[in-house]
Amino acid sequence: MTSLASADIRRHNLALVATRLAEVGTASRSDLADATGLARGSVTALVRQLEADGLVRETALVAAEGKGRPRTMLELSGDHLAILTLLIDADHASAVASTLGGERLTRVERRHGRPMGDPARVLDIAAEAFDAALGELGDREVADASVVVWAPVGGDPAVVLADTDLGWGTVDLVALLADRSPRFAALASAGRVRLLADTQVAALAEHAAAGRPSELVYLKSDSGIGGAVVVDGTPVDGSHHLAGALGHLPVVPGGVRCECGQHGCLVTVAGPDVLLERAGLAELARDEGLTVALDEFVRRIRAGEPAAVDAWDAGAAELARTLQIVTLTVDPAIIVVGGYLAALADDLGERLAKIQPGLEGAFLTAPQVVGSRLGRDAALLGAEQTAVARLLADPAALSPA
Ligand SMILES: [Zn+2]
Repeated sequence: MTSLASADIRRHNLALVATRLAEVGTASRSDLADATGLARGSVTALVRQLEADGLVRETALVAAEGKGRPRTMLELSGDHLAILTLLIDADHASAVASTLGGERLTRVERRHGRPMGDPARVLDIAAEAFDAALGELGDREVADASVVVWAPVGGDPAVVLADTDLGWGTVDLVALLADRSPRFAALASAGRVRLLADTQVAALAEHAAAGRPSELVYLKSDSGIGGAVVVDGTPVDGSHHLAGALGHLPVVPGGVRCECGQHGCLVTVAGPDVLLERAGLAELARDEGLTVALDEFVRRIRAGEPAAVDAWDAGAAELARTLQIVTLTVDPAIIVVGGYLAALADDLGERLAKIQPGLEGAFLTAPQVVGSRLGRDAALLGAEQTAVARLLADPAALSPA
């Protein structure tokens, strides 16, 4: 019993030291002792273990302030490891490999062309991108592989619940990828694969970038419209993994039928497909993809092009009203808007402030609306951050076999 307990404590303390080092980038042994509350001697022993496992290395000597010896600084290394993230959005499958410290090793991007209702074709291309990225990693071992989809995820094992951008119902994406890539299958059976919803991980990364406010609402539009609500540092998941699905708030009573089965969802009146059609950009979206078309949409709104401005006015009114409703549901400190909406955050914030002047007798005023700080890579960064946090919570499991 005693040895089990002490092994647990040691594992916990290794995680404390490694996680602290990941947070600050570099630190000396005495910095780590101060930050973790562990004794200096314990930290020295723990660092020795992490160094032996190839997870930590010494960087440089830093001259001491005042009296005392110069201090040796430490950083995470993990040169034998990589984390891999496979992103599957409405246009592309991208496989990105990084070090534990966040350095990019490779990025392989393939366009799948949005074959609606055909997961097999999308996953053929996704598996190919995944294998191509793996092929560039040399001797590095993949410690964690995250698959990020622009759709809600749930269940055990996790599956894609419904992807309206791609016309998917429930899809066991991990199994379908494993059928196509033996190396992915091996990682999945080793328990190293996780399936994640883009909005959840993007909101986490934005939450960290925004200085970790207590409540944050995230709304983004790049293919459909998605969202997430972060409370106490955690995205609210919901009883059916649908919390924060802001694109499907039914904002128009008796409106047109949405692919989700409801009527008048936000995405039916303010989704990119609808607005691009109205702005005369549907053809560009078909030919060049949504990303290119939405960039052009923003450019034309800024240039005052009438069709684009009309389309945006109609869509922005619905987006602002949705944010007004969500404001009183969550009472967030901040609303972060992502996707192409990041470029239009000030405009959305003004519209919200106009319709939400404050509640009489209450202190509530319209929350600040800010554009995504992380841009198109928010979901990637969030997936990488959660992967590193998960790995460093048990660094002993990362030691070379
Ligand atoms: Zn809907």
